[in-house]
Amino acid sequence: MEKITIIGSGLTGPLLSILFAKRGYKVELYEKRLDPRQESISAGRSINLALSHRGIKALKLAKVFKQVELNLIPMKGRMIHHSNGNLDFQPYSINPNEFINSVSRAELNKILMTEAENTNNVNIHFDEALIEINNDILKFCSGKTIPNEGIIFGADGAGSLVRQFIDKSSKPKSKKEPLGHSYKELNISPSNTNDFQLDANSLHIWPRGEFMLIALPNLDKSFTCTLFMPNNGKISFESLKTENQVTDFFKSYFADALPLLENFPQSFFLNPIGKLATIYTQNWHKDKICIIGDAAHAVVPFFGQGMNASFEDCEILMECLDNQEDWNNIFSTFNQRRKPDADAIAKMAIENYIEMRDSVTKDEFINKKEIANSLFKNFPNRFIPQYNMVSFTSISYKEVYNRAKIQKEIIQILNTENFDLKDAENLIKSKLIPIS
Ligand code: FAD
Repeated sequence: MEKITIIGSGLTGPLLSILFAKRGYKVELYEKRLDPRQESISAGRSINLALSHRGIKALKLAKVFKQVELNLIPMKGRMIHHSNGNLDFQPYSINPNEFINSVSRAELNKILMTEAENTNNVNIHFDEALIEINNDILKFCSGKTIPNEGIIFGADGAGSLVRQFIDKSSKPKSKKEPLGHSYKELNISPSNTNDFQLDANSLHIWPRGEFMLIALPNLDKSFTCTLFMPNNGKISFESLKTENQVTDFFKSYFADALPLLENFPQSFFLNPIGKLATIYTQNWHKDKICIIGDAAHAVVPFFGQGMNASFEDCEILMECLDNQEDWNNIFSTFNQRRKPDADAIAKMAIENYIEMRDSVTKDEFINKKEIANSLFKNFPNRFIPQYNMVSFTSISYKEVYNRAKIQKEIIQILNTENFDLKDAENLIKSKLIPIS
């Protein structure tokens, strides 16, 4: 069996290594950071994430979901914090068993690394940043070099060096499209009585048109808040320069969150600004080298799917491996199958930013959502709201995108005030094939 080398032990690398290890492969995993089980991960890098169906399915395939499950906090819907202080809960689904989960990135990372090591087939090399890759060798910051042989995966995230190497002989080359908006994380600590200060089973959103604040719960009863905002302009990261400006801004737009924020406004200046971009890559492989996860297709975080999609990549790669022996064929099938899905989730993630920061407060959005839910209830095999298809099914992202477009047209055609179920049925049956 060929030896597998994986660069990057973030979220995708360890999961991929477990799946290979369980098939009997020996895996060498190289990570630029120190072992997070011994060092604390610094603040400011998306402390928690939303895990949903696709990610869970891949974790189950690797037989590690039970360990992860203990660390999950269900988020059953969006809790909208209106400007006037009113709260409005919008469930994610009409089915109570469909929800997303908040999970700590650090804990998930640690569980996956420990499970990888427990297979006895995975060797993790920490503090080994890949600094050079060419046709002959891979060179690490410690001075160590290994030959460029066997199977090599780049799971080295959005700034992937492995992708840059593949790019050298690729046409077209990969492309990075900055969103023009960035993010900053802040914290809400537990109350004096050690309880959550906001509803624990919601993803909280303060939608304010061009920008928004969100908050996801943590197991220690704190919340991690993330402010998403344009880089430049009248209201932007650039415009908030002093503590007074920041405090006034929060007083004006996030009055109910302001008293809850820890060490504020100092934390605003202490925590870094994270940039957001989409990575588009046409060629994911060269010879026996392949990229996976964010390295191939980083997306903006507004559908909570980057990690879920990356975990799904691992599952799909295993399916490609089951059906073929030649690695070139395995990689090219993987690339061909996954690229359209990566493009579709990239588009939907950008579109969902507008939904989260703006549309969720609008009557038109709420009416259409009600109709979509009613059609879902009546025709569950044909009409599934887009959010549900993305978060609670394994329907390929590409198909989700296409079906969602048709569904929007159907809702547009129906008389939204008082729609007739028979008309809806005819439309749906003529336009949407049942989901198998
Ligand atoms: P990464 O997690 O970036 O891991 C790459 C690893 O490679 C890192 O450990 C890095 O140290 C290592 N590395 C990099 N370069 C080298 C090198 N040269 N040598 C050795 N090692 C290297 N996704 C969701 O599904 N749900 C969410 O709710 C969600 N929220 C998010 C919120 C924010 C603010 C952001 C920014 C992202 C969010 N995501 C979310 C996306 C998610 O974080 C990524 O999709 C996911 O981390 C991808 O995993 P990865 O392992 O491919 O890349």
